[in-house]
Amino acid sequence: MTSSRDLAGLPLEVPPATAKKFEKLGIRRRFDLVLHMPLRYEDETHLYPIGALPYGRPVLVEGDVIAQEVQFRPRRQLVVQLEDRSGTLVLRFLNFYPSQQKQLAKGQRIRALGEVKRGFFGDEMIHPKCRAVHEGEPLAGALTPVYPTVNGLAQPVLRRQIQNELKRQDLGETLPPGVRESLGLATFDEAVHTLHAPPPEFSLRQLEDPLLPAWQRLKFDELLAQQLSMRLAYRARRLGIAPVIRGTGELDRQLRASLPFSLTRAQEKVLAEIRADLANPHPMHRLLQGDVGSGKTIVAAASALTALEAGYQVALMAPTEILAEQHFLKLSAWLEPLGVTVVWLSGSMRKKARAEALASIASTPVLLAVGTHALFQEDVAFRQLGLAIVDEQHRFGVGQRLALKEKGREPHQLMMSATPIPRTLAMSFYADLDVSVIDELPPGRTPIVTKLINSSRRDEVIAYVDRTCAQGNQVYWVCPLIEESETLQLQTAVDTHVQLGEDLPERQIGLVHGRMKPDEKAAVMASFAANDTQVLVATTVIEVGVDVPNASLMVIEHAERMGLAQLHQLRGRVGRGAAKSQCVLMFDTPLSELAKARLKVIYENTDGFEIARQDLMIRGPGEFLGARQSGVPMLRFANLEEDIELLEKARELAPDMLARFPREADAHLDRWLAGREQFLKA
Ligand code: ADP
Ligand code: MG
Repeated sequence: MTSSRDLAGLPLEVPPATAKKFEKLGIRRRFDLVLHMPLRYEDETHLYPIGALPYGRPVLVEGDVIAQEVQFRPRRQLVVQLEDRSGTLVLRFLNFYPSQQKQLAKGQRIRALGEVKRGFFGDEMIHPKCRAVHEGEPLAGALTPVYPTVNGLAQPVLRRQIQNELKRQDLGETLPPGVRESLGLATFDEAVHTLHAPPPEFSLRQLEDPLLPAWQRLKFDELLAQQLSMRLAYRARRLGIAPVIRGTGELDRQLRASLPFSLTRAQEKVLAEIRADLANPHPMHRLLQGDVGSGKTIVAAASALTALEAGYQVALMAPTEILAEQHFLKLSAWLEPLGVTVVWLSGSMRKKARAEALASIASTPVLLAVGTHALFQEDVAFRQLGLAIVDEQHRFGVGQRLALKEKGREPHQLMMSATPIPRTLAMSFYADLDVSVIDELPPGRTPIVTKLINSSRRDEVIAYVDRTCAQGNQVYWVCPLIEESETLQLQTAVDTHVQLGEDLPERQIGLVHGRMKPDEKAAVMASFAANDTQVLVATTVIEVGVDVPNASLMVIEHAERMGLAQLHQLRGRVGRGAAKSQCVLMFDTPLSELAKARLKVIYENTDGFEIARQDLMIRGPGEFLGARQSGVPMLRFANLEEDIELLEKARELAPDMLARFPREADAHLDRWLAGREQFLKA
């Protein structure tokens, strides 16, 4: 296998300019050509008589050009009459080049592939694919694959390169014996030949059916490569060394005594899972999932205490400054009375404050540092970091997990996310993590009622805001997301703030947005938390984590512009206290189909898992995971929703294959992933 594997990895034999084009298609080494699969197929195996053409699908005809003219009405176009023994057909071209006029000159024999439509003057093909032929030229023996391509890379070139590699590459099996048979899959060799060079007996419908054994084989192989790679990442982590952390329980006891509530059964369960991991000499990589409002922060605090009790430092990182601040305030209030030093670190700090924070981090043994990305920049030296907690992990994207290693030792990592990961994604892209789920909300929550209201009824909404305040409750007013311009978005928030101030003269209206200085922001939030401010106008900065239980109404303007996860997160800011809570989604018409679909989902569902599942269906996993930004290679053939069974089988097989068939596993990974690192950096 060694020599052919070397061949697989060889660069393409094409000039550099062409290689660039191939690279755009993700084709770098020769074997990538084998895995470059057709988008669809064309049938040039049968000639249809012009006199009896079927409608509704592309067909191939052959005939002589008996007339050609350029018409000018209703617009400039080339019209060609093609004739065979059974009849005549019009070929119509709305854009054309002189070369086409020449090719389709009167007297030429032509093959045209296209869909027949009933036109005013009889049957016609619009923009058929045409080729000059000589009489009796043989037909294609099988369906012709049509590949995804880029400008300047013609189908025949791609086809030729791929056919060459099919002959040269080792297409032997990488699956352990028996697996293929038991799953009813094609052999790899058979699969790639069927798809790239379909045998004559295959119909279009068969080849384009995802259940075709050949396609199933590719999907399975791809999923298996992903599972193997995740498994390896998982194993590599289990070989890493992390501090063994066992708390005394002392600070934990004090914290619990100070809380006005006790932890739910679900919170206790995940806390126990986290503590068991901390007591292990290998780095924890645990994802703590819990819907918005399920109470992840207190679990983070209690986990932190375990590390602090054992004499280690803890860092907690949040994706936005405003959320990090909320955590800082809350955790300071909980932990400082217990004698824990809590420090703040963010990018926007003054030099002196930053230097002080860095000095504490470098010297104070029992310390909790809260902040943004700034916490994990190179110049931040922890004295003895035992646990790193990342809140709202999904906001960082799946490819951006922390790489934290110091002198060979890694701290334990706890990642928290309120965007529930659908099961299929958890099984694939997050398969290298251990997962804990908080599957119940704290008691005493009243369900949030969601309303969809056309923005033309803004006055009614404002009157409702007023009534809500009159009852002693508070309101979030979220200004529209304006993706094209942050400045415009800011301006809108400022304007809304002024306008609401005029509309609601008896209420105190606050404003918070991303461009404010941290202390300004903190002051506004503190005023809202104390109910000195009744209405908080905000940009989407409050999307994550903000917690004011007395807020019972959330108004979102231009909800149609927001994504589902974002809407769910925003809505989760209310419904945290005993008061009946509402979320008013204002929208502008006309709505796009996508916006309609999203609003329907958010209107009908409150369960974050269900919303995430539907979101995944609407958007597909790439967008869902934020992979576009992080550059994670996504699945090309398998579809996580449709191919769940294959995914389950691949997941079952992976550990066994690594243990018992390491050489096959190696060859499989090489075939599918060589040239790329792995599906994910763990
Ligand atoms: P999230 O999981 O969205 O981060 P938070 O940690 O912000 O949720 O918690 C939401 C609210 O629920 C907070 O006000 C928090 O104090 C409260 N809370 C957390 N756990 C419980 C509990 N066991 N009983 C009652 N309230 C709780
Ligand atoms: Mg939170």
